[in-house]
Amino acid sequence: MQENTGAGYPGDADVQDDFELAGVPDAFQRLWTPHRMAYIKGGSQQFKDAAACPFCVGPNRTDEEALIVHRGATCYVVLNLFPYNPGHLLVCPYRHIPEYTDLTLEETAEFAALTQTAMRVLRKVSNPGGFNLGMNQGAVGGAGIAAHLHQHVVPRWGGDGNFFPIIAQTKAITQTLDEVRQLVAEAWPAAAESGLAPAGEPDA
Ligand SMILES: [Zn+2]
Repeated sequence: MQENTGAGYPGDADVQDDFELAGVPDAFQRLWTPHRMAYIKGGSQQFKDAAACPFCVGPNRTDEEALIVHRGATCYVVLNLFPYNPGHLLVCPYRHIPEYTDLTLEETAEFAALTQTAMRVLRKVSNPGGFNLGMNQGAVGGAGIAAHLHQHVVPRWGGDGNFFPIIAQTKAITQTLDEVRQLVAEAWPAAAESGLAPAGEPDA
């Protein structure tokens, strides 16, 4: 078991994690309460080398290693290594393109469909009260990995962001990434199928 002493605190020099994959560092530090959590140091320095783009490298690894929950034809879905909340997903095209306007029509359709399925899956497994969806475009727009387009799907619960972040810029993540990945991946096929229901029918 990896001791977590000091990991994830601002000012640590190097980035080290158990997964070495997709994620978007931000200003929050995390309290990794259960054991075997991702081990994070150093924030955004991790992703300055475009040749090591985590969104390009991830699909070459196993789902478990890369935290991938679903692989489509043109796009895939991965857990954010730096979640705002448990179940924070990222929808990414396989192609290394920076802007939403760079997507082909086919990619755009799958990007949208996977975003919808991600919401359905998260509703099933964690019953959020709401979501934040969005893409940060360019470093100026706040993108952690500006060179490779990704859509955030963040489940929200009432009061989830009210205490720790304000007091100490710290978020307690109470499920390990491994557990969340498995939960979401297993729920994906049924949720994707429910999305094929005729228009107007509510999700089962
Ligand atoms: Zn890339």
